[in-house]
This record gives sequence, C-alpha cells and structure tokens, in this order.
Amino acid sequence: MDKKIGVAELYSEYANKAKANLNNSYNYVIDDDENKLFIEQSQQRYASGDNLSLDGIPLGIKDLFCTKGIKTSASSKILSNFIPQYESFVTKQLLNSGSIFIGKNNCDEFAMGSSNETSHFGPVINPWRSKTSPDDDLVPGGSSGGSAAAVAEGSCVASMGTDTGGSIRQPASLCGIVGLKPTFGSCSRWGIVAFASSLDQAGPLTNCVEDAGHILNAINKHDFNDTTSSNHKREDYVSEIHEKMEGKIKIGIPSDYLIDVNQDILNQIENTKKVLSKHEIEFIDVKFTTTDFALSTYYIIAPAEASSNLARYDGIRFGVREDGESLDDIYLNSRTQGFGDEVTRRILIGTYVLSAGYYDAYYRQAQKVRRLIKDDFQRVFNEVDFILTPTTPNEAFKIGDKLDPISMYKNDIYTVPTSLAGLPGISIPSGLSSNGLPLGIQLIGNYFKEKQLLQLAALAEKELAFNE
Ligand code: GLN
Repeated sequence: MDKKIGVAELYSEYANKAKANLNNSYNYVIDDDENKLFIEQSQQRYASGDNLSLDGIPLGIKDLFCTKGIKTSASSKILSNFIPQYESFVTKQLLNSGSIFIGKNNCDEFAMGSSNETSHFGPVINPWRSKTSPDDDLVPGGSSGGSAAAVAEGSCVASMGTDTGGSIRQPASLCGIVGLKPTFGSCSRWGIVAFASSLDQAGPLTNCVEDAGHILNAINKHDFNDTTSSNHKREDYVSEIHEKMEGKIKIGIPSDYLIDVNQDILNQIENTKKVLSKHEIEFIDVKFTTTDFALSTYYIIAPAEASSNLARYDGIRFGVREDGESLDDIYLNSRTQGFGDEVTRRILIGTYVLSAGYYDAYYRQAQKVRRLIKDDFQRVFNEVDFILTPTTPNEAFKIGDKLDPISMYKNDIYTVPTSLAGLPGISIPSGLSSNGLPLGIQLIGNYFKEKQLLQLAALAEKELAFNE
C-alpha cells in the first residue's frame, strides 16, 4: 500500500518520540521552531520536484559531531556547555542532502565504552527486553548506544554514529539494526570530537542496508580539512545494491573467532551460511594468527591517542572551568571534575604507554602488532572476498552487569581487529537469541569495497529476513 506523508507530518511523528526519549537515547532534542525553516524548505523542494537525496528525513546525530549552534557534549561533563560555531563535515553533508536533525544522541563519554554506561547524562536503556527477565533494563551497546536505541525505538529514521573499535557495529547488533563502519579515511573526521584519530570513523545506524547506502552516498566525500581523508573515487552505493553480484563470491569464516562462543552466537553464523549458500557463494574456513593480540593492541593505541587528544580540555581553552588558586589547580580541578572514571582511566593508560621508558615497551610494540594485524587481513583477502564473523560475543546485558573494565573490553573482541586494520565492516541483524534478544553478524570487506559489501549485506538481509 502506498502511503503519502508530508515532511512536517513525518518530522513530528519522529520528533514526538524523540522528546519522549530525552534523557535516555537523546541528550538534547532540537526545538521544533528551530527546525521549522528546514521543514518548509524541504516541503518546497518536494513541491517543485527538485528534492534532494535525503530531503525531509529526520536523523539523530551522536553527540560527538559538532553541530553549529547546537550543544555538543560528547556526553561529558567537561563539554556540557559547548556550543560549536561550526558544523562537522559529515553533518554538513547530511544537511546539504536535505535531512533534518531531530536531536543529539546520548553516547559513552568521549565514545569510550561498549555499553553506553559511561555517559555523564546517565545510561541509555535498550528498547528490547529479554523474554526470561523482562523487567531488567538492558544496555544498548556502545559507544553509539543512543543512536542505536533511537533507531530501534523509532525516534529517527536513521542516526549517525562513530566507530573507533566497534561503536557503530556493536550497538547495532545489540539493538537489532544495521550499523556500517566505512573504511578509515572515507568519511571526514573534521568536526567530530576526537577519541583516537587513527581509528575514528563516522558511519550510519539504520533500519536496513539500503538506508545505510543512502547515507553513505551523502557523507562519503573527500575533505581537504582532514589530512587522513582519502581522495579515492567514490561510487554510488545504492543504485545497484539489490543487483546480483558478479562471479562466484568467497566468504571466509575465521575459525579463531569461533572458539568458546555460545550456541546462540554460533547459530547466527551457521544460519547465515545456510541461507547464503543458495547463492553462488562459497564459504571457506580461514584462520587469523593475530586475533589474540587485537584487544591488547587496541587498548594501548586507542588510550595513547586519546590521552593526547584530550589534553586540550584544560578548563582554559576548552571545557568547563573549575576554579582553583593557581593555574595548576584550575587544570587539576577542571580535569578531575570534568572527566568520568573511564575517560580518566584511558588518559592514565595512554599517558603511561607514551611516557619515556614505557614507549618502547608498549606503544612501539603495539604499533608493530597493528601492522601484523593489517597484514593478516590482507593474507586472508588473497583467498576470499569477504569475511563473516559474529559482531558481538553476547546479547545485550543488564545495566550494571559488567562493571570491571576487562569484561567490558572483551565485548569488542570481534570489532576491534577490523578497526585496527582500517577495514570496512557492517553489522546486520541475523536473528534472536534464546532470550528473544537481537544478535548480529558482521561482514568485513577489503579497503574501499563498500559497494560490494553493501550488496552482500543486502542479500544477507533479505535471506535472513530479520525485519519480517
Ligand atoms: N568499546 C570500544 C572502546 O571503548 C570502542 C569504542 C568506540 O568505537 N568508540 O574503546
């Protein structure tokens, strides 16, 4: 059935839900009046028939993207009064494509976390409930947990997230939606509050693979202001998304990813393999030699870069200022009170691994292992076109259940290697756990193969029929 809906009607439908979720999936909802002009302009473009690619589409934006004139806090106390005077490159592209921002999504503080529990504004609650204990509030995953929950609860059509070690793919998996992390260097980091500059990448969280393609079309552009922005040739990621892929496709399943996984997770891989085998797809067992080192490598490199990036929040140039008697006291008080525990932990680890005497033992070694991880992927990509893995080792867990950092970090086991290698990865929902909670599979492609990766993901999505 064809239902026609106007831009204003569409907007208020989503905006009302977003307002109801303020202080959960949203830190900040944009005032309707502020959006009125955008809505009118969009309506006019539709009326005259020259509408833009995302015209009138209500989007959520992770509170890590600088949005001109709109509060941008990185879910941190230290940035809780920050109103940027500029628009991030990525959000600018989205505005230029006609989309309308509903609000800023809650996230882990400075995008550090896997459960959205480190936010200064409180945790995000996953809209899903388990069959066995429906009263428990579950985490949505992190760090783009607010973005994932917002899409899953239907308070925006899609949301923008960032992924440093899994923060788009992991919450997408735990909330039953699609999350795409493009190749590092595809989407400009300019205007995104920096966590780890050699890893951070923007990407969409959406209800379906095609929506991810539409957003990628809008944001995947070269940017002179980001020195790591690649100027490779961009493609149209949507027009052929449902077309049959050329030739025989080979997908590698890494056996070392499936050691010690629970049956629910194993079922997702087995089922995906089954439904895709009907097509001209061959599955090959592959093995990485570096998987065991990925987490420790990531948790040296990411904090090292974070400690350097976060040095600017001193209460003088950036950040909420806490008074003190001397300059040192101002720094000390501002940073002590401005940062939460997890961010402080990362700054301490990062400073330690970069300090004289420890640099060679930790940071330099981690950089070497990162190269080995990259090479390991390229060796496997000589044999196969794509790699299929679980996105997460478990379903959404209860808020407060994983308080020690190590068990939290272990959530990133399947997403971190791809990030260290800079490769594109997508998580799509594949089925439900025995508790009735969503689980996802991750498909990984070689550098800049987003077009083919989305084609494969669209095929898998159709065959897995999760949304049905
Ligand atoms: N969970 C990982 C971390 O805490 C990844 C976060 C991210 O991708 N932003 O570092």
